[in-house]
Amino acid sequence: MQALREAIQIWYQSHHRDLPWRHTKDPYAIWLSEIILQQTRVEQGLPYYLKFIHNYPQVQQLAMASQQEVLNLWQGLGYYSRGRNLHATAQQITSDFGSIFPNTYQGLLQLKGVGPYTAAAIASFAYNQPHAVLDGNVFRVLSRYFGVEEPINSAVGKPIFEALAQELLDTKNPAQHNQAIMEFGALQCKPVSPNCSACPVLTTCHAYRENQVASLPIKLKKVKVKKRYFVYHLIPNAQQQLAYQRRGAKDIWEGLYEFPLKEFTDESQMQLYLSGQKIIGGRFEHLLTHQRIEAYFIFSSAQSQLTSSCIFLDLASLEGHPIPRLIDKFLIAHSHELFSE
Ligand code: SF4
Repeated sequence: MQALREAIQIWYQSHHRDLPWRHTKDPYAIWLSEIILQQTRVEQGLPYYLKFIHNYPQVQQLAMASQQEVLNLWQGLGYYSRGRNLHATAQQITSDFGSIFPNTYQGLLQLKGVGPYTAAAIASFAYNQPHAVLDGNVFRVLSRYFGVEEPINSAVGKPIFEALAQELLDTKNPAQHNQAIMEFGALQCKPVSPNCSACPVLTTCHAYRENQVASLPIKLKKVKVKKRYFVYHLIPNAQQQLAYQRRGAKDIWEGLYEFPLKEFTDESQMQLYLSGQKIIGGRFEHLLTHQRIEAYFIFSSAQSQLTSSCIFLDLASLEGHPIPRLIDKFLIAHSHELFSE
């Protein structure tokens, strides 16, 4: 324990990346960075963090923004529910906590979208409290170094890793310890091709000694991916604008704009519907965490697809309307074909 704890901190001094949220103790900035970086690589999340902190330097400003403004800034980052939660949590902090972040681990857990990992991150980074973080990087380092073969996402495995992480924590310096072990996992003990030959704990690492580096950590298989079949209708008006509608609640992409949609549960039904239609751009496949969407875009004059909530927009006026990545990909590749005839 002691050897790993010290080695990782020494390694961190000379290897860590210089990232803006590491220069602050402001719980708002730390929370913002953590929410943005969930399921997102640092290189991809960094410009979004900078945009958000520039536009909303304090939590009150984020709370006062409209949901549409927030989703516009979030656009391209995916997982829009995180963007909506970010906004809702800012409003919760403003209305329920007088715009002041809770300063304890338990208090932080009361915030929407803040689970044990994020609460530990904020408690340690902002307030230097002794709570060990446990993200994918930390699971990997612990599993390999100590040779833990229990799945990291199982009911049996989780408490084992929690106890190990907490025991390993440098309670005198929890902020730097947590940063160090996460960075060590991200840069040194990487998921694929970890840099074992230059690793400071090579001689005491269980996985290296037992040739288990590639097989650890163990993770239970993900839930089944649901297939969905979308046909989007490109319905123009006389001003060469297209019809859009806003997606409703309780499904993916809540509040985002898309073309009028007909969804099928079965691929053959969709293919039947598509026969004889003017398809633009062929077949699109879009992957989400638990869903795989197969989508087609057809030119249509079908007024029956227009609902009272539809609005007509051209590309310029689309700017202020957040759209799913799938629609964005389609427009980037094929918007020039839409009005060429
Ligand atoms: S020796 Fe390899 S597997 Fe073990 S901690 Fe170092 S980088 Fe990770």
